[in-house]
Amino acid sequence: MHRVRAKTAIRGGAVLCVALLCGANLTAQRPAARRGWDTRPPSPQTAHSRLFTQRPAAGPIEHVIVVSVDGMMPQTYLNPDAHGLKVPTLREIVRQGAYSEGVRGVFPTVTYPSHTAMVTGANPGTHGIVTNGAWAPLGVPAGAWRWYAQEIRVPTLWDLARARGLKTALIFWPVTVGARGTVVVPEFWREPTGTAEDAKLNFAISTPGLLDAVAKRFPDFRAKFLPPRAEDEALTDVGVYVIETVQPNLLLLHLADVDHWQHEDGPFAGRALPALENADKQIARVIAAAKKAGTWDQTVLMIVSDHGHARTSQRVRPGVWLCEKGLVKLDENGKITDWKAYVLASSGSAYIYVKEKEDLETRKILVEMFQQAASKPGTGIRQVFTHEQIVAMGGDPEAFLALEAAEGWAIVGETKGDAISPATQAAEHGYLPERPEMRPSMLVYGPAIGHGKIEGARLIDVAPTVARWLGLKLEKAEGKPLEVPIHHAQASSDTGRVTTH
Ligand SMILES: [Zn+2]
Repeated sequence: MHRVRAKTAIRGGAVLCVALLCGANLTAQRPAARRGWDTRPPSPQTAHSRLFTQRPAAGPIEHVIVVSVDGMMPQTYLNPDAHGLKVPTLREIVRQGAYSEGVRGVFPTVTYPSHTAMVTGANPGTHGIVTNGAWAPLGVPAGAWRWYAQEIRVPTLWDLARARGLKTALIFWPVTVGARGTVVVPEFWREPTGTAEDAKLNFAISTPGLLDAVAKRFPDFRAKFLPPRAEDEALTDVGVYVIETVQPNLLLLHLADVDHWQHEDGPFAGRALPALENADKQIARVIAAAKKAGTWDQTVLMIVSDHGHARTSQRVRPGVWLCEKGLVKLDENGKITDWKAYVLASSGSAYIYVKEKEDLETRKILVEMFQQAASKPGTGIRQVFTHEQIVAMGGDPEAFLALEAAEGWAIVGETKGDAISPATQAAEHGYLPERPEMRPSMLVYGPAIGHGKIEGARLIDVAPTVARWLGLKLEKAEGKPLEVPIHHAQASSDTGRVTTH
């Protein structure tokens, strides 16, 4: 177990300052020449640091690792004892590093809009990834998600890093099919899913040769990498391999097992508990890899999640109501042949779209229908939001209405079957970001990071904070850099030295 902590008794002054990292300007200390990373010899500073691997000094920030533990709720690290959780790495980070008691997410609180907010600093209505599911009013392509980076409308951290000549690694990060980086293993799957045959596609769309090399190094990799169930251990295998061989300046690693098991068994229940403990182990592997690679002294590790979870027992299909009102036409096989209105659901919420801008009659029917549903118990609809309210929430400006599901309910987008039926999953997300159970997690750790709480964090602040650490300009971000406690450590001074025990 690595224990990293600041010296408490220091000659000549305080170790820890709480500072706005933009003010600290750590990146100004980095070498001016950033190109030719792959071939340049180790800098004197790196060589110096390697000599002191047992007692590293926090240097300028050269590497940022963001690990997203999909669906992880802040109680995991704020109160692990309440759930009997063995999460020694997270406990240590809370003791020694910086953490948020709960981050404000984006609307809707689902995976792809949230992860894209984290790498752009923008709300979904601005960055363009407004739901997980692809636009499919006629039901095709079935089961498609917004996998493609080309749909992101604003600059991403990986775009900016690449433009500066920095090395980037994107490992199963959502919306990265077609993204350009030093290493890219995009999250992508085909329906039906989960066979070795399908995994060939993932090998083909990843950086050539990379996954074969990972499979050679970690013999269990192929068995654990069957997208969309790419196990956390397999994805961390890729992360470890990339840290050791490429030493990226920006690494984004997305682990999805916690989310999967929380959907299945509920938050802090059943198989979600060992999944959280396993995620903790994978975070420890990432830290160990950076130490082995000799980059930890200049690394900031940020652990985040995209949303929380809330238990559900029932679900509603508003699309069935649209069919009943004649706003969706089905053929004799139940296939959609035409539509005037469309439900694009995100479990805890849904967008309602109208096909024709001038179709005032359909708009009137929809407003009456959903307002009535929201006023009655047992419909599964809690609130209806107008187009103007959606825009103010940072949601999709193309949507006519948005619905929020009632407590214990999920909204699904199908047009066949009963309008109301029992839930098929124990827990869901996608509700308003104001709901306490929807709050994402955030922890920040590394030799340069001090101990303390991060106040007022929002998901849209992640990218501006990372950009500041790496000296990147994220000009159109809607978020801003967070105040994270840092050590003012200089390589030339003992003051602020961070030690390993
Ligand atoms: Zn998620």
